[in-house]
Parts: sequence; structure tokens; C-alpha cells
Amino acid sequence: MATASPILGIDLGTTNSLVGVVDSGFPILLADADGARLTPSAVHYAADGCVTVGAAAVRQRAIDPTRTVTSVKRLIGRRAGEAEWKPAYDLKALGKSPAEGSADILKHLKAIAESALETEVSRAVITVPAYFNDAQRNETKRAGELAGLTVERIVSEPTAAALAYGLDKLEENKKIAVYDLGGGTFDISILEMRDGVFQVLATAGDTQLGGDDIDRALADWILRASALPSDSAIQHARLIAAAEEAKKKLSAEAEFTVELPFFQDTANLSVRVQRSDLDAIAQPLIERTRLHCRRALLDAGLSAADLDDVILVGGSTRMPLVRQVVQDIFGREPNVSQNPDEAVGLGAVIQAGILSGALRNVVLLDVTPLSLGIETFGGLMNIIIPRNSTIPCRAGEMFTNAVANQQEMLIRVLQGERELAKDNWELGRIAVPFPPGPKGSARVGVQFAIDANGILQVLARDTATNTDTILEIQNSAVDVDDEKVEKMIAESVDFAFEDMNERIWTEAHLKSEELLKAVDEALEQCAGLVPEDEVEKIKVAASEVRNVMQAELHDARALKAANQLLDDATQQLAVLLVERAMEAALERKLS
Ligand code: ADP
Ligand code: MG
Repeated sequence: MATASPILGIDLGTTNSLVGVVDSGFPILLADADGARLTPSAVHYAADGCVTVGAAAVRQRAIDPTRTVTSVKRLIGRRAGEAEWKPAYDLKALGKSPAEGSADILKHLKAIAESALETEVSRAVITVPAYFNDAQRNETKRAGELAGLTVERIVSEPTAAALAYGLDKLEENKKIAVYDLGGGTFDISILEMRDGVFQVLATAGDTQLGGDDIDRALADWILRASALPSDSAIQHARLIAAAEEAKKKLSAEAEFTVELPFFQDTANLSVRVQRSDLDAIAQPLIERTRLHCRRALLDAGLSAADLDDVILVGGSTRMPLVRQVVQDIFGREPNVSQNPDEAVGLGAVIQAGILSGALRNVVLLDVTPLSLGIETFGGLMNIIIPRNSTIPCRAGEMFTNAVANQQEMLIRVLQGERELAKDNWELGRIAVPFPPGPKGSARVGVQFAIDANGILQVLARDTATNTDTILEIQNSAVDVDDEKVEKMIAESVDFAFEDMNERIWTEAHLKSEELLKAVDEALEQCAGLVPEDEVEKIKVAASEVRNVMQAELHDARALKAANQLLDDATQQLAVLLVERAMEAALERKLS
């Protein structure tokens, strides 16, 4: 399917934001010119009107804190009952509203996407915290519009994260917890799968708790350990940046040395930090998430044991201590299969891809979920396109009339895995007329063609007259209800033995009818020419065939064996028939 205009997936985070798109079927997060996928959600409004966004704006913060806007998301939404947050800047004085501040970040993300994709984009899916109310969601939508984006959908962050973790394939009523510890906020959400979509059962959290708090606590500790004085804002900014770097390093390593040359005049700061030091500093902060998790479970009416999965979201969950605490809270190892700081963004991209049609649901994979065929003589299913064929595809077969003087051939188009036509689903039927003639004289080609959209066209051609009859099946031959497909396949397996027996039986039955008719005719023609005991042998074999045919239980093997015996018993009769035919021909010639 062609994707005319891509839809961006955007995680508009309090600390960091991400943008991505589905490219050739794969969700990808896009990097800026520096190769970074995470864009700090910071905007610097210079006095001369110049606007900078991202890492460059973060660098301005130390120098120009009152003109640097960070965590603007907090100004759009806060949890019910929480105190208003007071930033170091005055947004109003900068002539901006919270939506306009967010719009500047979104514009920057749009530009990253446009230069990476080398095309203009105008549509997006944006994520917001699960607790955002309608007004806050609308405010976010407005920010998107101010940035020149049509917001196709606002998605809850935990739902997006669950999508990224591939949990959208979870069974009905499965429940998960999404533990999201970012830079400045903590969110815990309990989700339940209902009717194929996630319902948020409960959310809890703290908008004043995150990795930044750990950075500040660690910065204080480092300064004390260095025994150096610190008084300037610049020193403070350097310390915080160094603390964050150390914290991140300690997620993977056991120790790290913070080095800040010329920290105080000519004095260098050099402090070694052990992972255990960081853990002791962070412990009380991380411990605070426990209460919120309990609260959310309580609100959802669940205990930790009712959860089927616990997923980690947010950069701070990379800390080993956080993982340990989460494991302790929920009594199970958290799922760490995704990059926690990219999960929400990735989920937004997947959602955008589904909306734009660039990512199709797995159910709609471009293969035929079930076999397609037609009914043949005796009520059997004749497969023309087997299941799991990739589309588009085309296949066909030649059929003939089974009975003499047949006026038309009725083609029933079937879908399913069962051997007998009646057990499969009829998609449609066409009647192909042809001039009457002896059995096997007609030649009808039947061709099935499925196009890229899953539409099946059946073409029947009478090869004698070259007339075509076309049937288009409007229902997609590919887009079949998942459950029905599973049921059909399960039945075909369950009934495999019976079905196969029935197919062999039907084929043998047709053969028996033919044989008996031929034997009766031959015995009549050759009356008196065949020895009595020979005739007796043939009659016994024929009546045995009739007995098996009439038996209530369809014993396909017995019928095949009886057919074989009758065939053997008539060997001499067949020779005689040929001789007689030759004699008759000779006589005609001589006379
Ligand atoms: P948000 O959702 O709040 O915008 P993120 O999910 O991007 O933020 O998380 C940002 C936080 O994650 C920051 O505090 C950052 O220091 C922290 N973080 C990022 N990587 C690591 C790491 N490897 N170890 C510890 N913390 C990390
Ligand atoms: Mg986040």
C-alpha cells in the first residue's frame, strides 16, 4: 500500500522528546544533524528573537536561565490536586503561552523529521500522560497545530509504551503495569486489554520526582566530597551536568570519577563515585515510587500477582537500583526488552504507522489465510490457491464435464481447509455454459487471481468457444477474521482423518459406479462367450463392490480394494471384449 503522506509519531516529554516515522514497514526514530534521537525539551528565547531548541538550549540555561524554557509540559498539565509548579523563567514575560512553548519544540521535531525524510510532513500522533484531562489533551493538540501539524491522534504514554513492547497482542483481560520514571516525573499506570485495546484501569505518580532529583542530590554529595566552595550559577550548572553524566555511567559501571577542571579558580574538582554511593543517595527518592505503585494497584482493585507483565519506561529506569526496587514492589522481574527512554516514542510511531496504513496489523499480512478453490464432482474441495500464498498471485486449472450432455458447469468458489466442499465457505458461484457433448469433451479453464488489495477474481474460460465468464468476489480473500481462520484450521486438523477418508471414499465411489456400469454392459455383450465359473467370479466381485458401497460406514480402503478385485476379475472379459470388437470390425471390412 502506498503511503502518500507520512504521519509522525512524537513523544513530547517533560525532559526529552522523540520523533519518528514508519519507513518501509519499520518504525524508526529519527536523529538530528548530530545523530541524536533524544531532543531535550528545552527552548531558549534570545533577547534578539532567536529561538534555539534542544541540546543547544540546554547549554544556554546555565548562562541565561530566565530566557530558557524547560519542562514546559508541566505548565500544560499537572495532576489533580497538585500544587502549581514555579519555573525559573517567566513564560508570560517572554511573550509565550505554554502551548506556544510546546509548539516551538514540536516545530523543531518536525524540522528534524523533514530533513531526515527529505520531504514535508504535516501530520502527527502525539503522546500525553495518561492522567491528562480533555483540556490538557486539547492544549497539546493546539500546540501541534501551532507547529503546523495536524494532530491525527493523542495517545496515552503508557499505551504507546505497551505498543512498543509488543503487548498489543496480549489476550483479552491481561493486565500490565507501566512504570515510567523520567527526568522530572514519575507515572505508574495499570492497563487492561479489553476488546483488543488497552484500557487504563488506574494511574498514580508524582510530577515532582525523577532523574533530576537524583542529579541534584548527587551534585550536592560530589561538592561536599570535593571540599571545594561553590557559589556561582555556572558552577552549579557544571556540577549538575557532571552528576547526571556520572549517574548514567554508573548504570553500567561500578565506579566513575567526576573531573571538573578549573572548577574554583585554578582548583580542579576530582571525585570518585561508587555505584553504592549513588544507590545510597537515590534509594530514598526511588523508594517514594513504591507508595504510588501500591495506590495504583489498589485503585485498580488488583494485587501485584494479577499482573501479566511489568514494563519499564523512562530513562531513569536504566538504573540498576530502580530495576531492583520495581522487582521488589511487583514481586517479578520487569520486562526490559525495549529501550526505556525510547519506548513511548516508538509506540507513537507504531500508532502513527497503523493510522497511515504504513504498518498493517499482522492479521492483514499479505498472504492468503485460507486455501481458495472450487467444488469438483462428488462434492470435493479442489484447491487452486493454497493457504499462506503471498499476494498478489494467480493460479488455475483445467476442468471437464463429468457427465455426458452437460449444458453448463457450475463453479462454486470455496474458501477453507476441509476436504469436502460442504465444510468450506462458499464465496460465490458462476455457471459456465458450453455446448452439450460426451463426457470429458468440454474444456473449461478456471483461473483465480488475487490482487494486492486481496480482491479475488475468478475467470472461467470455455476453451472451445473462448468465452469468458468473470466473477469478482467483493469480500477480501485475505482479510478474514482471525478467530474464524483459527477455527477453520483447527477443524481441518481435527477432522483430517475423517476428511481424508471421505475424499478417498468419494473418489472410489465414483470409480465403482463407472466400473459396475461397464461390467454390466460387457457381460450383456459377451453373454455365452465367457465360461460360467468366470461369470460367477465377476458377479461375486461386483456384488462385493455393491456391498461396500451400500455399507453405512464409509470404508474407503475396503471400497478401493473391492474395486481392484473387480478390475482383476474382469481381465479375461476385457480381453474378450477387445477380441469381439476386432472381429466385428473385421467382419464389417470383409462384408
Ligand atoms: P521524560 O520522559 O521525563 O522526558 P526520559 O524518559 O527521557 O524523560 O528520561 C530522562 C531521565 O533519564 C534523565 O533524568 C536522565 O538522566 C535519565 N537517564 C537517561 N539515561 C540514563 C542512564 N543510562 N542511567 C540513569 N539514568 C538515565
Ligand atoms: Mg517520558
